[in-house]
Amino acid sequence: MKITYQIDKFAVNFFRKQFYKRTIENKSVRLPKFIAWDCTRRCNLHCEHCGASKESYESELTTDEIKKIINDISKIKRCFFGATGGEPFLRNDLLEVLSYAKSKGLGTGFASNGFLISKEKAEEIKKSKVDSIQISLDGLEETHNKIRNNPKSFFSAIEAIKNLQEIKVPILSVATTLTPNNFDELEEIHNLLAGLGIKKWRIVIIMPIGRAEDSKNLQLNPDQLKSLFSFVRNNNHKKMYIYIGENLPFLGEYEESVRDEPALCPVGITACCIGVNGNVRGCPEQPDIPELIEGNIKEDSILNIWQKGFKKYRLNEAVYTDKKCINCKDRNNCYGGCWVMRIGGTNCIYDLLNKEFCNQATDVFFSRCRI
Ligand code: SF4
Ligand code: SF4
Repeated sequence: MKITYQIDKFAVNFFRKQFYKRTIENKSVRLPKFIAWDCTRRCNLHCEHCGASKESYESELTTDEIKKIINDISKIKRCFFGATGGEPFLRNDLLEVLSYAKSKGLGTGFASNGFLISKEKAEEIKKSKVDSIQISLDGLEETHNKIRNNPKSFFSAIEAIKNLQEIKVPILSVATTLTPNNFDELEEIHNLLAGLGIKKWRIVIIMPIGRAEDSKNLQLNPDQLKSLFSFVRNNNHKKMYIYIGENLPFLGEYEESVRDEPALCPVGITACCIGVNGNVRGCPEQPDIPELIEGNIKEDSILNIWQKGFKKYRLNEAVYTDKKCINCKDRNNCYGGCWVMRIGGTNCIYDLLNKEFCNQATDVFFSRCRI
């Protein structure tokens, strides 16, 4: 048993209980620490597992609109503002917006496929003083190019990493979406990233959204999942910090041996997301559907939406509306799993580890997602 893990777990549960209590009492809650900006759905690649392809939009927030929102967000102490997409660099104003956020005292970052990060762009990124950059890499050259449907995508991602490293742009992490199509390259990707000097590697499994909505053939089977956990347990912190992304908020019996700290879903507790059209929802991966929209920043301020919305997360509705979760011994370790994975019936670690996932929405909340 890791003592630091247990202390963190105690703190997280205490924090969640406070949110629950204050929501029941209709009192205000602490402001978010992480706000994602789902800035565009346009992309220059066409990945087989793309979750961002779940919706398309005719227009996006303008530079002035997002700057106005940043003015509001900057009232929160020590808040992080991170851009994701689509490919964020298809917005010409990305660095202008991130620089503005930085000038207002926010931490800033973005997640990118790296395709447009030339040497010149890397210099501009450095000037914007961005705090955190994540580049996606899904395999060795042939596999990555196949998954991303572009023969230059691997070369571009590696060049982006090198261009940023050369001029010492800090805190670079790499994200890999692991499916049966790249699972056998896990070790080789690890070696590749170590050779590049990467210090943080984020591994996620497929989410049942966008092009991966019918994701049965892209989901790891129980044996692959178990060997992923063994791999992380055996390699974590040797060459780099390896962490399993938060769409698996609870890993069952593997949890403490694989993770440094708890990774519960942060939606409505510490995090939320501003969508392409200004709709506010939990995270970029969640579909933009009425059940998950908490407000729109063109009609109300982000701070008001945070206080008035997100009740289902704070009241742990996923647990209390799911027969299976309410009777589960781990409900206070897991809180019902990831809300996005729930859409495809892949939210429960015990199902993922022991049998075929049911691939059906597990409660009425999401039944419309699969219509
Ligand atoms: S039954 Fe629900 S609470 Fe229990 S592990 Fe599965 S998803 Fe989590
Ligand atoms: S809903 Fe899922 S993907 Fe979104 S923040 Fe929560 S755990 Fe992560």
